[in-house]
Amino acid sequence: MRRFLLLLGVVFTPLVSAVPSVITGATVYDGTGAAPLTDATIVVDKGHVRCMGSDCTVPDTANIVDASGKFITPGLVDAHVHYAASGWIDTRQGSLLAQKAYDLSDAQDYLKEHTEKFDHSYLCSGITAVLDTGGFPWTLPLQSSSIKNPNAPRFFGSGPLITHGASPASRFVMTHQKYRGTPEFLPMATDEEARQSVARLAQLGSSAVKVWYQPPADDVVDEFDERLKVVGQEAKRLGLKLIVHAPELREAKSALKAGAEILVHSVEDQLVDEEFLSLAKKNDVVYQPTMGMQKLKALAEMEIYHGLPPDFDDPNGCIDERTRVLVQEGYQTFKSYYQEMSATQFADKLLARGELLQMAQVNAKRVHEAGITVATSTDAGIPVVFHGPAIYTELEMMEEAGIEPKDIIVMSTQNGAKAMGLENELGTLEKGKNADLIILKQDPGHSASAFRTITHVMRYGQLRPVTAFAQVSTTDSAE
Ligand SMILES: [Zn+2]
Repeated sequence: MRRFLLLLGVVFTPLVSAVPSVITGATVYDGTGAAPLTDATIVVDKGHVRCMGSDCTVPDTANIVDASGKFITPGLVDAHVHYAASGWIDTRQGSLLAQKAYDLSDAQDYLKEHTEKFDHSYLCSGITAVLDTGGFPWTLPLQSSSIKNPNAPRFFGSGPLITHGASPASRFVMTHQKYRGTPEFLPMATDEEARQSVARLAQLGSSAVKVWYQPPADDVVDEFDERLKVVGQEAKRLGLKLIVHAPELREAKSALKAGAEILVHSVEDQLVDEEFLSLAKKNDVVYQPTMGMQKLKALAEMEIYHGLPPDFDDPNGCIDERTRVLVQEGYQTFKSYYQEMSATQFADKLLARGELLQMAQVNAKRVHEAGITVATSTDAGIPVVFHGPAIYTELEMMEEAGIEPKDIIVMSTQNGAKAMGLENELGTLEKGKNADLIILKQDPGHSASAFRTITHVMRYGQLRPVTAFAQVSTTDSAE
C-alpha cells in the first residue's frame, strides 16, 4: 500500500505567457478521433492554440518545450462532478448516520472557501474542464471565474437540482440537504412549481437544469412524466440545457421525451432497447456512463468490511490532505454498519454492485456503437469517488467495457466539451481553441491506463508539471 505522509505546499512556477510557447516532437491526439500526428508542433499564445500540425512556423521569441517520445491529448473533461460534495459523507445528509456525524453547513463553508483544493486535484490529474451536475448556488460563480484561470479547470454548473422526491428516502434528502437554510433541491410538485424552479435556476445563473428523476410511484407515473416535459419546455425557453438523472430505462426514455440533452448515469436496470436508442439519437443526447463509481464503492466497502480505511487510488498525490483525513477518520463511523453484516449479506451487496456495473458497461458500448455521444464522467464528490483521480478508474472501466482506447480519448475530450456546450472553445487541439492539454509518457491510443502516466498539464496556455498541483507527496514508500 502506498503511503502519503509528506504535505507539499502548492508551489506555482507558471510560465509567464508574455511570449508564445511551442511544444515539439510529441505524438498528438487532437481529440477529434483523427489518427495521431507524429512529431507535431503546437504553438500556443495568450491562452489559445495558434497552430497545431507539421507545418507550424515557430515564433522567434517562443519558449520551446521538447516533448519527443511523449504523447499529447487535449486536457481531459470530467462531465459529471459535484464541487459541493467532498468525496465523503459529510456533504451527504441522506442518512441519519451522516447527519449525526457531520454538520453539512460547516462542510459547505469549507468547500466554498477552498475551491482551489479541487481545482488543483483536477489539474493534477489532467482534467482541465468539469461539468458540475448539481450543487449549492455558491458553485455557480465558478463558471465565470474559471474561464481564463490557468489554475482552475473550466467550470460549467447546473446549481440546485429539481426533483419530485419520489421515495421517503429521497424526500428525506430533499428536506435535510440545506446549507444555512438554502436548499440543494427545488420542487416540482405542480406544473407551476416546476416552472418556478426552472426560473429560479435561470435567476441564479445556472447553465443547465438538472432533474433528479427517481422512478415515480405507479399511480403518479403519468403525472410526473408530463411534469418533466413542463420542466423541459421551460428550460428550453430560458436557454438552459436539460440534464436528467435517470438510471432506469423507463425513466431515461421519459427524460428523452421531455427533451433531455444529457443523461447522467448509465441505464443500469436492463439493456437499452431500440426505442431508447432512437430517442437518444433524435435528441443528439450526451450519455454519461459513470461506471467507475460502482467499482470504487465496492473497493472501499471491502476495505471497511475488513476494518481498514478506504484506499486512495491517486498515483500523483492529487487528493488534498483534508479529504484524506475525513475518509481515514470518518470510516470508523461506518465500520459497524458493514461489520454487522454476515459474510453472505456482504457478498450479496458486492454482487449487486457488480451486476449494476456489468449492465452499465454493456449499455455504454451499445450506446456508443449506435452512434450516440458518450462523455467520460465520474460523479466525483460522492463518497469515495475523489475529485480528480477518480477519472482513471472510469477510463479503465470504459476500456473494460470493450470501448476502444482511441474512442475513449474522444469521449474524454471533445465529447465532454459538447456536454458543456463549449465545443467551439475547448476539447480539441485546433487553431483558436483554448490551449488546454496534457503530456503523457505512455500512448493513450494503446490503453486508457496511459492517462495515469501524465507528467504535465497545460491550462489556458500555461504549462506546469503535474507535481506543481500535487497536494501530498507520493515519493514516500511503496511496498
Ligand atoms: Zn452526480
